[in-house]
Amino acid sequence: MDTDILICGAGAAGLTLAVDLARRHIPFVLIDQAATPFAGSRGKGIQPRTLEIFEALDVADRMIAAGGRYPAQRHYAADGGYRDEATVAATAATPTEPYGEPLMLPQHLTESMLRTRLAELGHVPRYGHTLSGFEQDDGGVTARVTTADGEVDVRARYLVGADGGRSFVRKALDIGFPGESLNARAVVADLALTGLTREVWHRWGSGAKQISLCPLQGTDLFQLQMPVPLNGQVDLSDAGLAAVIAERSGRTDIVVQAVHWCSDYAMSARLADRYRVGRVFIAGDAAHVHPPTGGQGLNTSVQDAWNLGWKLAAVLRGADDALLDTYEEERREIAADMLGMSTRLLDAARQRGDLRRGREQQQLDLGYPASSLSLDERGDDAPLRAGYRAPDAPCVGAGGQAVRMFSLLRSGDWIMLRYEPATAPVIAPRAGLRIVTVGEHAELRDHHGHLRDAYGFAAGDIALVRPDGYLAVLTHDEQSPALTACVEKLI
Ligand SMILES: Cc1cc2nc3c(=O)[nH]c(=O)nc-3n(C[C@H](O)[C@H](O)[C@H](O)COP(=O)(O)OP(=O)(O)OC[C@H]3O[C@@H](n4cnc5c(N)ncnc54)[C@H](O)[C@@H]3O)c2cc1C
Repeated sequence: MDTDILICGAGAAGLTLAVDLARRHIPFVLIDQAATPFAGSRGKGIQPRTLEIFEALDVADRMIAAGGRYPAQRHYAADGGYRDEATVAATAATPTEPYGEPLMLPQHLTESMLRTRLAELGHVPRYGHTLSGFEQDDGGVTARVTTADGEVDVRARYLVGADGGRSFVRKALDIGFPGESLNARAVVADLALTGLTREVWHRWGSGAKQISLCPLQGTDLFQLQMPVPLNGQVDLSDAGLAAVIAERSGRTDIVVQAVHWCSDYAMSARLADRYRVGRVFIAGDAAHVHPPTGGQGLNTSVQDAWNLGWKLAAVLRGADDALLDTYEEERREIAADMLGMSTRLLDAARQRGDLRRGREQQQLDLGYPASSLSLDERGDDAPLRAGYRAPDAPCVGAGGQAVRMFSLLRSGDWIMLRYEPATAPVIAPRAGLRIVTVGEHAELRDHHGHLRDAYGFAAGDIALVRPDGYLAVLTHDEQSPALTACVEKLI
C-alpha cells in the first residue's frame, strides 16, 4: 500500500493530524493497534487555545454542545461541612479571545467527534492494525503493519508516531526519553453512581487519602480520581472502588452502580530528546509524558499535531524541507515548559491541596517568538510580536457580513493582512496564500478597530499569519526581503 503519510496511533494527536491532512487533501493512512476506539474520560479538559484549533477544524461547536463547564469543587470537611471553590479561570469571551474558559468533555467524546469529522472528510481509522517495524531511506519509509489477516507493507513518504507514552516509534528510533518518575500513582475511573448531586465536583480528604468524584459533562457518569500507594495491588473491582469511596468520603449513601472504565497509572515527567529522525516524527504523548495536573496532555498533543500537519502538507507540495525541522524547534520547548508547569502543579496539589488552574493553563499565551520562522520588522514596543498567536478580530466584509479573523484561518491557508495600504499588492497570488486588504473601501473593514488594536496596526502594516494561526512576519514594508523569502520558500 502506498500513501504520503502513515499516522501510527488514533488518539487525540493522530486524529487531529488526520483531520487536518484530510481537509488539505493529503493522502494518509491512520492505524491503531486497539481493536476498538478508546472508551475512557482521561483528558477531560479542552483548553481555550485547543478550542480555537478545533474551531478551525470545524468541530468546536459540536464539542461545546456535547460538553459543559467545569463546576466548582466542593471540599468537604471531616464534620460534613464544606466550602466551594472555582477551579478554572473563566472570563467572558473577548473580540481577541473567543473562548474564555476550558470545556469539559470526556476524552472518548472528543475523539469520537474527531472521528465523525474525519468520516465527513472521507476517512476512517484502521483499528486492529499494529505498526511492528519500519525502515527509512531517502525517498520514504517502509512500514510493516500487523493485522488479524497477516502482515502488510505500507510505503509512505513520512511516518508520524502518535502512538502514546510507550511509543513503539520512539523506541524503534532509539530516541532518548529522559526524565523522572514522580513517585505518585493514581486511579481514574468512570462510574455510574447515585447519592451525589451533579452541580459540583466533590472532593474529600487530603494527601494520600484524598478522593474526588467529578460529574462528567456530556454523560451521566462521574470521574473518580484518587492517589493510591506506589506499590502493591489496587482492588479495581466494582466492590473495591465502592469500598474505597465509602472509606475516604465517610459516606454510605453513595452507591456505585457500574464501573464503565478504570485505569491505574504511575506518574512521570519525560521529554523525548528528538522529535524528528529523517522522515519519521513523533507527536503527543509519544514525545512527552507528565502528570495530569493542569490538564495539559491532550491539549499539548493536539497542538503538536496542529503544528506538524500544515508543515507536512506544505513540504509534500514543494516547500523547503527545512520547514519540517521547525516542528521540533517549536514544539519541544513548549513541552519542556509544560512538563515543569504540570510537575509544579502536582507538588502544589500534594502539599497544599491547591488545584486551581489559571491563565497559564489556557495555552493562549504560548507561541514561537524564538522560532526561525518568526520575523519581526516592527519596533520592540509593538503589542504583538512575530511568533505570537494571531488574535481573533471581528470585522465586516465589504458586503456587510460579519467576518472574523478566525473565519479566514479556517481555510487552512496562509493569510496576509494588508492594513490600509497605499498601493496595490506586490506579492503575486499563489496557492495556499490568501491576501486580504483591510481598509474603509477594501474587502475587509475594521469598523470597530479590533484588528488595529489587537495587532497594533498602523496604515501600511503587513501581517503574514501561518496556517496554524501564529504570526510569521510583521513588517511595514511589503517589499521586505524577509517577507518575500518567507513566501517563496514556505508557501
Ligand atoms: C488520569 C488522566 C487524566 C488526564 N487528564 C487530562 C486533562 O484533563 N487534560 C489533558 O489535556 N490531558 C489529560 N490527560 C492526558 C491525555 O489523556 C493524553 O495526553 C492524551 O491521550 C495523549 O494523546 P496521544 O494521541 O498523544 O496518545 P494516546 O491517547 O495515548 O493515543 C495513542 C494511540 O496509539 C495507539 N498505538 C500505540 N502503539 C501502537 C502501534 N505500535 N501501532 C498502532 N497503534 C499504536 C494506541 O492504541 C493509542 O490509541 C490525562 C491523562 C490521564 C491518564
